[in-house]
Amino acid sequence: MSSQRSFFEDVLLFIDRAGSYLDYHPKLLEQVKFCNSSLLIRFPVRMDNGDINVVEAFRAEHSHHRLPCKGGIRFAPGVSMDETMALAALMSLKCALVDVPFGGAKGAVNIDPKILSDGERERITRRYTAELIKKDFIGPEIDVPAPDYGTGAQEMAWICDTYKQLCKGVPNYHACVTGKPLDLHGIPGRSEATGQGVAFGIREALAIDEDARALGLTPGISGKRVVIQGLGKVGYHAAQCLQRLGASIVGVGEYNGGLYDENGIDIDAALEWFRSHGSFEGSDHGIFIAEPTAILEQDCDVLVPAALEHVITSDNAGRIQAKVIGEGANGPVTPDGDSVLRDRGIMVIPDVYLNAGGVTVSYFEWLKNRNRVSFERMNSRYFLNMQKDLMRQFAITAGLDQEALDIDHLRGPSELDFVNAALEDTMVRSYAKIRAYWKDNDCPDLRTAAFASAIDKIASTYQTLGIFP
Ligand code: GLU
Repeated sequence: MSSQRSFFEDVLLFIDRAGSYLDYHPKLLEQVKFCNSSLLIRFPVRMDNGDINVVEAFRAEHSHHRLPCKGGIRFAPGVSMDETMALAALMSLKCALVDVPFGGAKGAVNIDPKILSDGERERITRRYTAELIKKDFIGPEIDVPAPDYGTGAQEMAWICDTYKQLCKGVPNYHACVTGKPLDLHGIPGRSEATGQGVAFGIREALAIDEDARALGLTPGISGKRVVIQGLGKVGYHAAQCLQRLGASIVGVGEYNGGLYDENGIDIDAALEWFRSHGSFEGSDHGIFIAEPTAILEQDCDVLVPAALEHVITSDNAGRIQAKVIGEGANGPVTPDGDSVLRDRGIMVIPDVYLNAGGVTVSYFEWLKNRNRVSFERMNSRYFLNMQKDLMRQFAITAGLDQEALDIDHLRGPSELDFVNAALEDTMVRSYAKIRAYWKDNDCPDLRTAAFASAIDKIASTYQTLGIFP
């Protein structure tokens, strides 16, 4: 039987497990665990057919140890304060782990965006933003939302525009939200960032000879068979990037069934079929698996749950065939499920590290907005000139004809090049730190190490205040 604990209680349990590896005063750990402030709002919205709906919405700021707070806004039916607090807590840990200097937050609006018109979504988004402004829950130095499940660049544009209209005179107002469209002060690579980060993180975990062999795998990502549950923004870009890195995507799943082919799936073709038919059923890009959760239990080396929380519990953890689980979603494995996986020797690469690519690139967008200048403008020609100088020097040393060098075709790096390189660097460095923490502190698994290392960073910031012994 899976547990009856709520999502936030699950996160608290993971924090408690990790806290036992740390030597902080219990009151300090309490301060780190719970949300610093939370907001529940209800507001009326007129729908296109004239009806009025009362919309329930939330924002939780988990930690103010660093400001601004940061975290996405989720539009989904059934969201709650508990779920929002859980996701906000994960954001604090996530930011700490990848050295993004923010506290964690999350927002949620209890609507089903799939059945709303653009106009209805716009009115709800703008009203929600106005409520956040009124309560001081948004601002470039206060709390900076971003996309999450059910939202994207369009919603971020409406948030930014509402903030701009209502908060005149705030310097760098467009840093009040990230994940904006490119033409509205966004940054290239933001929509791919979470998925790419997932792929880089899995590559890092499999690159370590000792760890891969302990799992019964050959080291390296190349040739690994991957199943991805959820082909949304995170899952799709993770699949693309994993394929580029040499892995083979043998299974994909959606809320109404999946596809499996041990020879590999053409992701774009499968997705096109899904979009035009509303299901994978009937597609000849693999064998259709009707039971939605069955895709998690297919034969593969790496399983990436990239949709929603609580999909791997003590009920199905015993049937997972993967050797590695890469948590693309937030909270896909419950603590009970996690214990079963650990006992079975399955490695879990935890969400707080693995899906931190999104907030990492959000941080770059925020920096760009505050600096009011793109990374490309300040750096591109410098790197181009450096490349040309190097080639000239090389030609002189090698006694080559300078005229034959053909350096005019060289281009300096684009902003996307800078973003992708910095994202990869963040994922590589952070993995090395978490793994070192795992081994140095004899933690039972990567999740405990990641949580303990993140709590350590947050707690030590509080400790400098001198309140806690
Ligand atoms: N919603 C994303 C997450 O859960 C991104 C948050 C952000 O960019 O602030 O990590």
